[in-house]
Amino acid sequence: MLTYEDAVTQVSELLQVQTGLSVSKSSEEEIQLSGALFVNRVYRDFPVRKHYRIKLVIPVGSEELPYVLDTENQIDNTYPHAFTGKKLCLETPTSIRIQYIDGFNLVSWVQNYVEVYFFTYEYYKRYGIYPFGERAHGYCGIVQTYKDLLHIDNEINTIHVMKYISTVKVYRGHHRCPCGSNKRIRSCHGEYIKPFYEDCRLRKILDDDLLECYREAKEGK
Ligand SMILES: [Zn+2]
Ligand SMILES: [Zn+2]
Repeated sequence: MLTYEDAVTQVSELLQVQTGLSVSKSSEEEIQLSGALFVNRVYRDFPVRKHYRIKLVIPVGSEELPYVLDTENQIDNTYPHAFTGKKLCLETPTSIRIQYIDGFNLVSWVQNYVEVYFFTYEYYKRYGIYPFGERAHGYCGIVQTYKDLLHIDNEINTIHVMKYISTVKVYRGHHRCPCGSNKRIRSCHGEYIKPFYEDCRLRKILDDDLLECYREAKEGK
């Protein structure tokens, strides 16, 4: 969550790096940037040096993450990760929240998620594969994110572990590991489960995500 002052500071840092962007709206609720984002990256000898016209919205004083709108339809809408809603489909919010658990950083977010998004799009158009993997959407994407974070081997067991963390409020290393291995937590997934007991912000993210999963399951998405 950014305060208005933080947001203004971070925006001015970003505008020094991304000189094609400028502030198009600034209020206590959100700051909007518009213009050309410059992407300059190379991966496996595949270079992208290109400008993309975007609108970048930074919510202020809210849990909502910033998002990007493709205002000139540069992303082909047959691309599997074109949009969620009207926003460009960046990484799952869980990964981004955890990445910035100690404080959001706009410059880093633009580099690691927005620029990478456009790079991935060009790479996919050229080679038909995702250079850095991909995530499913909605519920499945959330569970995949935890599967990786918790080092669990499948989605079903990941849900079991998520439910365990959400309902058992104190860390108990001697409990059977909820991954289904029949080992004790401390000699199984303890290393990955423990951080959720040591950092209440992580637990809050997991609790919110689990609720989101239940909500989507109920709506039958
Ligand atoms: Zn997507
Ligand atoms: Zn385990």
